[in-house]
Amino acid sequence: MNVTVTAVDVHDVRFPTAAAGDGSDAINRGDYSATYVELHTDAGVTGAGFTFTNGRGNEITCAAVRALAHHVTGRTVAEIFADPVAFWRSLTADVQLRWLGPEKGVIHMATGALVNAVWDLRAKLAGKPMWRLLAELPTDELVASVDFRHITDALTPDEAGAILDKGLVGLDDRLAALTRDGFPSYTTSVGWLGYPDDKVRALTRAAYAQGWRAMKMKVGGAPADDLRRARIIRSEIGPDALLMMDANQVWDVDEAITNMAALAEVDPYWIEEPTHADDILGHARIARAVTDLTGGRCRVATGEVAANRVIFKQLLQAEAIGVMQIDACRVGGVNEVLAEILLAAKFGVPVCPHAGGVGLCEYVQHLAVFDHLRVGTSLDGRMVEYVDHLHEHFTDPVRTRHGRYLLPEAPGYSATMKPESIATYRFPDGPVWR
Ligand SMILES: [Mg+2]
Repeated sequence: MNVTVTAVDVHDVRFPTAAAGDGSDAINRGDYSATYVELHTDAGVTGAGFTFTNGRGNEITCAAVRALAHHVTGRTVAEIFADPVAFWRSLTADVQLRWLGPEKGVIHMATGALVNAVWDLRAKLAGKPMWRLLAELPTDELVASVDFRHITDALTPDEAGAILDKGLVGLDDRLAALTRDGFPSYTTSVGWLGYPDDKVRALTRAAYAQGWRAMKMKVGGAPADDLRRARIIRSEIGPDALLMMDANQVWDVDEAITNMAALAEVDPYWIEEPTHADDILGHARIARAVTDLTGGRCRVATGEVAANRVIFKQLLQAEAIGVMQIDACRVGGVNEVLAEILLAAKFGVPVCPHAGGVGLCEYVQHLAVFDHLRVGTSLDGRMVEYVDHLHEHFTDPVRTRHGRYLLPEAPGYSATMKPESIATYRFPDGPVWR
């Protein structure tokens, strides 16, 4: 831990995914990109972290990382983790940079990249995968990693400590089961909005054959098209497999309710991002409506662009979500994810982390495993999103078997990209973009 961060490097890495329609939905058609951070140290170990962006604008997140980097450079890992909240606030509450957020958007995503890199560095120094590092931390240290400012009306440090202590009971059994079976997941690779019907059918059939029993499709196109595509998937997966829908915020509140009334025919398990991400009361109204429409079978899910723990707190307090989808780098990195996982546990809502893009699956598998081992303790309703893109660019890519994530074993947060991938896809001077 007595290792000093000597320099922070940031790379603008972009993959040209937009042309094929991979990742296309009602709002986005992106070139999956990473604002990729390297923390160089005097010990030769490099901490890696990134935030995910959708292509254009990645240079802005990179600039934000450079603006924050002086809070990390020159510090030792021991110093950073001696007072984790002080470190976290040095980034999130910088007396000038906070104006650019606060705790939201580009500046917060850059914070996430740096914070995640610091945790990756620590896990590498400890010789443990991130999930294990977190799961083995004493309760006091986990609680001390969370900034409770602005959430104590919903969750106090004592309550968080009690949840984490309770999570020690049966931990070894849960770990043995995960090691044997892997962590449940669902796939989003079957139903991007830009895919024609025959491709949706073929991908659904292939995913079912590979063992997936939960699949997500994009909605938010013409309502008749959404229903037709949903019927195709339902007909391929049968009545028992789960079918989730994702509108990527395109609908108004009443429009969401009207469209879900029609889509209820195919028995959706959740409707994700039915309306604008900031509309907590709107989500609450939609949640009540879909509960009524489906006799409680369908729930509202959101969180991939929820900016911070305060938004999640309100979604939970308003009973607006039945599934919480934290994004590992949209919020301020591991410390804030801990706050959100604990909030979800307090309110009894399962966390199904958002993944996909580039590297998000690599990150969130660690968080889901930690959640299960130490916080949530049940697999009921828990699934990690899986998207089959761009894993080959990481030194420790995710591994799946029969629709489940296998536990990562390498030390760190699985965030390290291959040097040749960085060189090839670096924007604008890598050979792919020249
Ligand atoms: Mg989504």
